[in-house]
Amino acid sequence: MNKKPKIVILGAGYGGMMTASRLQKANAYQDADITLVNKHNYHYQTTWLHEPAAGTLHHDRTRMKIDKVIDTNKIQFIKDSVAEIKKDEKKVILEKGELDYDYLVIGLGSEPETFGIPGVKEHAFSIRSVNSVRLIREHIEYMFANYNKQEEKHDDLLTFVVAGAGFTGIEFVGELSERIPELCEEYDIAREKVKLYSVEAAPTALPGFDEELVEYAMNLLESRGVEFKINTPIKEVQDGAVLLADGEEIKSQTIVWTTGVRGNPVIEKSGFEAMRGRVKVEKDLRAPGYDDVFIIGDCALIINEEINRPYPPTAQIAIQQAYTCANNLKALLAGKTDMEEFKPDIKGTVASLGGKEAIGKVGDRKLYGNSASAVKKIIDNRYLFLLGGMPLVLKKGKLNIF
Ligand SMILES: Cc1cc2nc3c(=O)[nH]c(=O)nc-3n(C[C@H](O)[C@H](O)[C@H](O)COP(=O)(O)OP(=O)(O)OC[C@H]3O[C@@H](n4cnc5c(N)ncnc54)[C@H](O)[C@@H]3O)c2cc1C
Repeated sequence: MNKKPKIVILGAGYGGMMTASRLQKANAYQDADITLVNKHNYHYQTTWLHEPAAGTLHHDRTRMKIDKVIDTNKIQFIKDSVAEIKKDEKKVILEKGELDYDYLVIGLGSEPETFGIPGVKEHAFSIRSVNSVRLIREHIEYMFANYNKQEEKHDDLLTFVVAGAGFTGIEFVGELSERIPELCEEYDIAREKVKLYSVEAAPTALPGFDEELVEYAMNLLESRGVEFKINTPIKEVQDGAVLLADGEEIKSQTIVWTTGVRGNPVIEKSGFEAMRGRVKVEKDLRAPGYDDVFIIGDCALIINEEINRPYPPTAQIAIQQAYTCANNLKALLAGKTDMEEFKPDIKGTVASLGGKEAIGKVGDRKLYGNSASAVKKIIDNRYLFLLGGMPLVLKKGKLNIF
């Protein structure tokens, strides 16, 4: 009897989970031994992480046990960290073992891009995982608790700097600006004592967004006390301070770094040719020169041919790539060589601004405020529906849409 081919999926984020779920639904486990590897035994929704970071949502709402969504009798799950991929030997080196594969799917996500700015790794927080956002929330609360304990008041305890006013930075600033009044009340601190800066090197906040929507977002956030420093690169992050290129120093014990991402370091460590840790994949999502390796999500780079620039890495694209990747794996298992090409279908982008506020564009329609916030929740619920059907929406979804 012929041995079944082995499919190994690395990472249980949007790309990896959805690939595993699609293969399970197609009964592909009957024709292949499928293994999913992830460093935690849970899947979390990266796109929600700004909320637990600010403390407006409990982190458990953003995560779910992998074996509650994937049938681990059909798809084997291994909780371990990927250290390296030996692509010429078709092997994955894990922290606690190794795996052989016939087909590999890499969906290991990303890490914060520091642009080599000194002190970022050592002194800044990042919105990256359940562990990292739990730390941010607890740290912020600790700053408030500590302020009144001191005889001499230290303003840097109540000064919060968010580096980067892109999508993630603005979503976090939005949530935090909603939470600050609550924290002030809880810790008996006047609102005007708290400073919240959004610092951006580019000439605008939310680069790439429609100007009118950006203006709406900035006005709203300013009305909640956010101070923008646009066109202001950060030169260095120190223990307790941020140095700006214009010479200003902001003393702060809380610097949250959200200036974009690069692909998971495993990509470069494994010798793939990459740009900022992302591999420019073929149209069928395989790595150039490696027909047995698919790369999806934030580790993959695909070009928007209309503007000849890479698509920004998003969950929307990672999910769509998972569908193509699963279809191509099914075709390979059936002995076919014709592969489906990946064509992104960008339905729109919605950024939440905290509370019931958001901005976005869906098709040609601009959305503001409450209606944008409702659409954002529908997008979040749609993903849960695709992954685990109505039971998962009811368990983990955002049901208070309006
Ligand atoms: C706050 C925030 C808001 C966002 N909002 C949006 C939005 O509204 N819309 C949108 O489309 N996109 C949004 N994004 C971007 C989106 O979250 C990412 O593009 C998406 O998560 C990428 O999916 P992925 O499958 O590549 O990786 P991820 O979803 O990040 O998953 C990677 C998985 O790999 C695991 N992993 C990592 N390293 C290892 C290792 N060495 N070994 C084993 N496992 C490992 C991780 O634990 C994780 O489970 C947002 C991002 C952030 C941070």
